[in-house]
Amino acid sequence: MTILVIAEHNNAVLAAATLNTVAAAKAIGGDIHVLVAGSGCGAIGEAAAQIEGVAKVLVADDAAYANQLPENVAPLIAGLAKNYSHVLAAATTNGKNFLPRVAAQLDVDQISEIIAVESADTFKRPIYAGNAIATVQSSAAIKVITVRATGFDAVNATGGSAAVERISGTGDAGKSAFVGEELAKSDRPELTAAKIVVSGGRGMQNGENFKHLYSLADKLGAAVGASRAAVDAGFVPNDMQVGQTGKIVAPQLYIAVGISGAIQHLAGMKDSKVIVAINKDEEAPIFQVADYGLVGDLFEIVPELEKLV
Ligand SMILES: Cc1cc2nc3c(=O)[nH]c(=O)nc-3n(C[C@H](O)[C@H](O)[C@H](O)COP(=O)(O)OP(=O)(O)OC[C@H]3O[C@@H](n4cnc5c(N)ncnc54)[C@H](O)[C@@H]3O)c2cc1C
Repeated sequence: MTILVIAEHNNAVLAAATLNTVAAAKAIGGDIHVLVAGSGCGAIGEAAAQIEGVAKVLVADDAAYANQLPENVAPLIAGLAKNYSHVLAAATTNGKNFLPRVAAQLDVDQISEIIAVESADTFKRPIYAGNAIATVQSSAAIKVITVRATGFDAVNATGGSAAVERISGTGDAGKSAFVGEELAKSDRPELTAAKIVVSGGRGMQNGENFKHLYSLADKLGAAVGASRAAVDAGFVPNDMQVGQTGKIVAPQLYIAVGISGAIQHLAGMKDSKVIVAINKDEEAPIFQVADYGLVGDLFEIVPELEKLV
């Protein structure tokens, strides 16, 4: 049994989610190969070769893969997949973009966002916004799987010494072209990779008030997230949204400030190791999942907290 893991990267940095995906592959068992599809991505190949437990790295370095366009990347993966029992990618925007195409091209059903491995053909995945966990058994000849990174502890980024093989790509499918992207720039850690996340909700009242969370977060070395209500109200950009339709996070510490704890928000953060909730309503549902709850006005509590850090 040999498993192909698709590396998540931006041609410059190998994303941490790759390490969680390799962990899922390890739980399945068998040899693990990593595919790095990108442009000018030789360093990513070298980094992937260092990952603990990886036997081989395939590098497809082609301008067609520079921006992970699914129309170009999917045929490459589907072509390689025939040599593998499983194909795994992180359930990131990229993985969710190209892997369903791979599954369709292989004529198998995709198994989405697994959070645990029962055996080589049986996996656990959340359904109904995480309110139920389905155990799914697949009889597909090649199992095409996206992995929810928060479900698996990352393997070590170093310690491996895999062989790196350069392979030729399938090139530009000619169906789409990359036009441009606008990326939010921040000196704070990336939300899904941060060890501490401070999130604000509608209780923050406006975007200006988020400065209280930014200064607390900077002292803690934390990322800043938000509820959908805060995003929809225009307090903060939507790439900060945590939840069912936002980002899934599971940091060591999640501090929810002025967030009620709707199930759609909990779906994105309830696997955090320690949850602290600050809310003036002691009946707020967030307190049902919180390890520590502070009932009171966030505009008094957050500055007090900051003084103690
Ligand atoms: C299909 C679907 C998908 C969704 N996806 C998401 C998602 O991904 N993420 C998400 O977050 N939501 C999502 N939602 C929305 C979700 O249902 C809630 O509406 C939203 O999470 C509420 O955000 P909130 O907790 O900030 O606001 P509210 O529910 O309005 O809560 C605000 C809280 O702030 C407290 N508060 C107010 N003032 C203060 C103060 N001064 N001090 C302390 N506490 C104060 C209040 O007591 C209250 O509990 C989704 C909804 C749907 C239908």
